[in-house]
Amino acid sequence: MIIAALASALAGLLALTVGPWLLTRARWRVFRPRLALGLWLACLLAGAGMLSAALGIVVADAATLTAAGTAGGDWVSTVAAWCGLAVLGCLAAAVGAAAASASADARPYDDALTRLAASPESRVVRDGVEVLVIAGTPGLTALVDPAGRGRVLVGSEFARALGSAGFEAAVAHEVAHVRGRHTLLLRAARLTAVAFSRVPRGLHFEQAVRTLVELIADDAAVRRCGRDAVREALAVQARFAPGCSAELRAQRLYSPFYVL
Ligand SMILES: [Zn+2]
Repeated sequence: MIIAALASALAGLLALTVGPWLLTRARWRVFRPRLALGLWLACLLAGAGMLSAALGIVVADAATLTAAGTAGGDWVSTVAAWCGLAVLGCLAAAVGAAAASASADARPYDDALTRLAASPESRVVRDGVEVLVIAGTPGLTALVDPAGRGRVLVGSEFARALGSAGFEAAVAHEVAHVRGRHTLLLRAARLTAVAFSRVPRGLHFEQAVRTLVELIADDAAVRRCGRDAVREALAVQARFAPGCSAELRAQRLYSPFYVL
């Protein structure tokens, strides 16, 4: 039983580390972001499943031996069960603390956006998703409402700078985030990065997922609005948020390796 649990735990850890490695090392991921993200999700689910199975095996083993009154030989299972539960508890505490800290840091900004979104300058609906243009937010580009209402917020100055084609492209990009539930994916990436922060390249992992969801949303926008409109929107975004990855993302759209 212990050997089965160990094998399952090792396989689980391997799966959980292979996914982040894949996302931070494999160069093809930039041109196949959806496939790369799918593989990571598969690794994440497989790893979590195998670790849970390993813990279940040692706990069940210890409980069975205790119930049968086995003396002497059951201490290994009992110690392994307690160790497994302790590791799980520490992991859950670390992940919970990181999630609470991130949420507390973002709250004032999120609250301010929610107040502004209560009286938008204009409102449109694209692909079933509500899009609000809000004033009083210089520097704001476009984003999925952080309050989690499945809608898109666009800064009014950004909207004006985009022009109509750029606006539609920027909105199509954000709508893709909403439809793809990218906020949930990013949350899962954050929790995985926290849990494996000591694994080599673990720190780059969250950024890698963030980049992939941006590329997937860019591809969705290209399908809907065309490459030129997306490039136009990215150029304006680069002006509003210097140092962001918008310029590199625009170059990717015209690479000979780019395929939709
Ligand atoms: Zn985006």
